[in-house]
Amino acid sequence: MSERIRAPAAAPASRQEAGPPAARSPAQRALAKLGLVRDIDLALHLPLRYEDETRITPIGSAREGEVAQIEGVVVASEVQPRPRRQLVVVLDDGSGRCELRFFSFYPSQQKAMAVGERLRARGEVRGGFWGRQMVHPAFHRADGPLPAALTPVYPTAAQLPQAYLRRAVASALARVQLPETLSPGLPPPPLQNHGQDGLKPLWSLREALLFLHHPAPDVALATLEDRSHPAWQRLKAEELLAQQLSQCTARAQRARLRAPVLRTEGGPGTLHARLLAALPFALTAAQRRVEDEIARDLALARPMHRLLQGDVGAGKTVVAALAAARCIDAGWQCALMAPTEILASQHFAKLVQWLQPLLAGRGQSVAWLVGGQKKKERAGMLERVASGEAALVVGTHAVIQQQVQFARLGLAVIDEQHRFGVAQRLALRQKRTAGAAAPGAFEPHLLMMTATPIPRTLAMSYYADLDVSTIDELPPGRTPVVTRLLADSRRGEVIERLAHQVAGGRQVYWVCPLIEESEALDLSNATATHAELAGALPGVEVGLLHSRMPAAEKHAVMERFTQGRIGVLVSTTVIEVGVDVPNASLMVIEHAERFGLSQLHQLRGRVGRGVAASACVLLYSTGDSGHLGASARERLKAMVETSDGFEIARRDLDIRGPGEFLGARQSGDAMLRFADLAADGALLDWARAVAPPMLREHPALARAHVERWLGGKSDFLKA
Ligand code: ADP
Ligand code: MG
Repeated sequence: MSERIRAPAAAPASRQEAGPPAARSPAQRALAKLGLVRDIDLALHLPLRYEDETRITPIGSAREGEVAQIEGVVVASEVQPRPRRQLVVVLDDGSGRCELRFFSFYPSQQKAMAVGERLRARGEVRGGFWGRQMVHPAFHRADGPLPAALTPVYPTAAQLPQAYLRRAVASALARVQLPETLSPGLPPPPLQNHGQDGLKPLWSLREALLFLHHPAPDVALATLEDRSHPAWQRLKAEELLAQQLSQCTARAQRARLRAPVLRTEGGPGTLHARLLAALPFALTAAQRRVEDEIARDLALARPMHRLLQGDVGAGKTVVAALAAARCIDAGWQCALMAPTEILASQHFAKLVQWLQPLLAGRGQSVAWLVGGQKKKERAGMLERVASGEAALVVGTHAVIQQQVQFARLGLAVIDEQHRFGVAQRLALRQKRTAGAAAPGAFEPHLLMMTATPIPRTLAMSYYADLDVSTIDELPPGRTPVVTRLLADSRRGEVIERLAHQVAGGRQVYWVCPLIEESEALDLSNATATHAELAGALPGVEVGLLHSRMPAAEKHAVMERFTQGRIGVLVSTTVIEVGVDVPNASLMVIEHAERFGLSQLHQLRGRVGRGVAASACVLLYSTGDSGHLGASARERLKAMVETSDGFEIARRDLDIRGPGEFLGARQSGDAMLRFADLAADGALLDWARAVAPPMLREHPALARAHVERWLGGKSDFLKA
């Protein structure tokens, strides 16, 4: 298609000249939609690939199948009506002739290719019966010299013609100020040259960007593709540095915030001591260690920002409860937020069981806040939260809604933190309490919990502003879960085994996958499985839990399962991971190939919580193709080979890349676009080393650097 001729003639106006939004062209709106607003955004919009328009191939030597650029004079141009209406243009360059065929064309294009015009055309050469031809080549009038550099092909959108985008980027590159921000006196980034000759060791940002948009034709294209070229490395170093700088800044800012000091004199009378005494088990050494780490943070006058990671079943809830007890002992409120109502209600039940009797004696209570609550009940809860009578507030997202006013929020705990977005974490932190003594505000301490351990490289980069506590030991008496991989054709055997388990007084989970395309299909699938199992297991109560059930009904089913009345629980959803029913000893996962690795691991963690030997059966189906995809095979293999959450997380990172660890919202925003943590370890080390001295010695440069890379998004890194 002839991009150059169809694109609008004028380059986009600079930002200042751009009209009001209503007057903008579709292309300008598409630019904004792609986030290409500032000149620097355009300058950082890098090509997907390149086209070589620096050379002309003589038509006589153009070979069939080759993508070539030719230049010649139009010697014939006519519209042929048959076999299909088409414009046929013949180019002659003295060495030979080539036909250009267009099945759709504008009158303006026909005019541009009139006899006598001198054209350049680029496309695949075909050697049809009638001689050489190109179908729908890109073309333009041959005026001006050949470009000296490769032509960039940018990622774009439907409304945004490539040629328009090229001009927009080129004019932004010409305008944009790229003052050097790397500090003099600090070590430069270690750019690897890969032994190529003639490449200079250090690139400025401007040089690197100009090169990446318009590389010299003799560049080794592979080094652009795998981003190992020094110009790429320079860019990645800049990006990693921006991220480290903003993380360090966030940490320093947090250190200046004030949080309540949650420390009490120990002693047998405290809630904390009484809770410990009331627990039916002793803490593991790992639980005691992380509990100490948290206690030390809580006793400081700056807000804690700590991630508590521990494999499924490691016992994070009780650690959270002990932290809550410390908070309440100090006279403050604690909020605990879970991503789903079922999880929240499990926490609620447990915490109520543990804490309610102890709180009651002090005239305090536990409040419960979820979405579907009755107006009156909710109003009552809000009242108790606002008055401070509710020392502990448990719930879902409802906890962070605007109307919820805490009297004195001292600690916020977020369970399954990766299921929450950055904005939600920020909202929770903003539930501040006006200080009685100071006019400023108190920030609550923040404890985030996750069963998906963060791999080390991520902890060092994205989460540099986070302290991490790890429970690396399971409570004693757990029996390891045996994992079996079975083709779906052996379903019958599985159902037999399941009958055995139930007959022995055990309980079973059967999980059906979420079918992304169709919630209805998803549901019918689970309903069918439910009916199948109910039919195969007379006398056994088979329960069904799916995402579209009303909360009350979900609740009732969960309740019956927890009480041991439901023997087999069929569930459509992976939403409710985190539930805790120690008597369940068999987990069957249907279409296991459709689940992510950490999801599978989380689901498997639902069994093996009691003393009974437990198993996890992964049923897989190869579908029509007859074999599993490579990544599905790797996931299932990893599940059979290891039950160590850290190892699972490491393999998951290998299989999926870092984006998925960061939660949906986080990954797209303000995160790494160019650098790859696995491949760019040396640059990451450099950025980590350089960021603190740069902030100390060259704060203005550091600010300019972060502004360039993150613009207004740096706020998100603080959550
Ligand atoms: P997770 O870390 O996955 O959230 P939970 O907090 O739900 O795990 O704990 C899993 C189960 O282990 C619960 O039934 C909990 O009461 C129990 N548990 C926690 N700590 C211990 C311990 N130290 N000894 C024995 N059981 C424990
Ligand atoms: Mg949990």
